[in-house]
Amino acid sequence: MLEKHLKNIEEDLLTAIRECVRIPSVGGDPEEGAPFGAGPRKALDWTLALADRLGFRTKMVDSAAGWAEIGTGDEMVAVLGHLDVVPEGKGWSVDPWGGELKDGMIWGRGVLDDKGPSITALFAAKGILDSGIQLKRRVRIIFGTNEERGSKCMKRYVELGEDLPVAGFTPDAEYPVIYAEKGILTYTLSMPFAPEGERKITSFSGGVAANVVMAEVSALLADPRPEGRKEILRAAEAWKGPERSFLTATENEADGTVFLEMKGHPAHGSTPEKGVNALACLADFLLPLKLEREQGKFFETFSRLIGFETDGASLGVAMKDDISGPLTACVGVVSMKDGRVTFTVNFRYPVTKKEQEITEPLLAAFRENGITVENLSSADPLYMPPDSRLVSTLRKIYREETGTDPDLLAIGGGTYAKTMPNVVAFGPVFPGQTYTIHEEDEKWSVEDILKNLRIMAKVMVELAEVKE
Ligand SMILES: [Zn+2]
Repeated sequence: MLEKHLKNIEEDLLTAIRECVRIPSVGGDPEEGAPFGAGPRKALDWTLALADRLGFRTKMVDSAAGWAEIGTGDEMVAVLGHLDVVPEGKGWSVDPWGGELKDGMIWGRGVLDDKGPSITALFAAKGILDSGIQLKRRVRIIFGTNEERGSKCMKRYVELGEDLPVAGFTPDAEYPVIYAEKGILTYTLSMPFAPEGERKITSFSGGVAANVVMAEVSALLADPRPEGRKEILRAAEAWKGPERSFLTATENEADGTVFLEMKGHPAHGSTPEKGVNALACLADFLLPLKLEREQGKFFETFSRLIGFETDGASLGVAMKDDISGPLTACVGVVSMKDGRVTFTVNFRYPVTKKEQEITEPLLAAFRENGITVENLSSADPLYMPPDSRLVSTLRKIYREETGTDPDLLAIGGGTYAKTMPNVVAFGPVFPGQTYTIHEEDEKWSVEDILKNLRIMAKVMVELAEVKE
């Protein structure tokens, strides 16, 4: 019965995903009625209008989020998806905003992260609606528009007292089930960095975001002495950094400077050990060149406390647990302004640890070394026991639909699952598949879209329970 109705909506689902991908919804500056930029708001309007046409009850929540719902009952089961996307970037072989269907796949920014899965969840509920199955609980799809830039959309949803789910999932990661997400602490730190003495840095910046390993950093090093600049160039020639690092030094005799460009290797903030931190490379290069006073002290302090480490050992916070693995530390961005240097470190700590166990030793280390905390943002860990009803239900449906039963996953954290109770990340990417999320040529195969449609519909029915 349900199967027949899912079959009937397959074509409409594919068309809707393609149309949704054509709305560029990269997050931007707030505008009237669009707290996270005009693009995300447009995608939200479009999606709620679609849900209206499909027969859902819908509501816009403060222009930040929206929901579409079917069924009756006091309790509610939710699917959380996001309609904002990351910038398209370079290197595409197709139009990133074209929603093209080619080689059995839909191509475009956001098709997999997370417009495609969000629209698929909507159609899974539509299949249930069409089939006439009576459920004990309401089924609600909640659409957010700020996942890629801090999930303030879902925070707003919760603050405004919108209904919270008794069970739910967010199809914004991987299958089978992510039952543990590490806690996150992102520090913005600063130290004095006045340009003093003969050899000094006069401009300095690197990195793209706190949750990506800094892959590039550049510094303008001034030294009025010709022999001083020659020494820097010779050192650059001789410098042997870690694999996948690369240094370019360019002298400008006219203004007495050497421009340094250090390349490392990017990696996601949850797996910093896969990257090469360019700031650590630059510090390693500059230490023997003896910058004076505050600038010299910064590079010495940074190298001693963090440097190439990604486990927080020298900061006194190395720790791990069996469920989620080790604490990780990712150095993201650096900049210089008004005689200070500012940089970010993104820590992800094991699910069984308390925030205090990390912040106390960190604050002591920062204090002792003259490091100022400018800002801290945090998210608690998430842990849903494998034998909980939610996790075991998701796992059971996954097993029935795919014929496989892979191990549950613990990740570095950061999905919508942390924004409200009783939610875990579930899908849409199957184990062993290549990830095109946040990369060029993002795509999702029609076969996987339709598999997801069935898995989601069956999970909704199981979580919302058929009326006897
Ligand atoms: Zn996402």
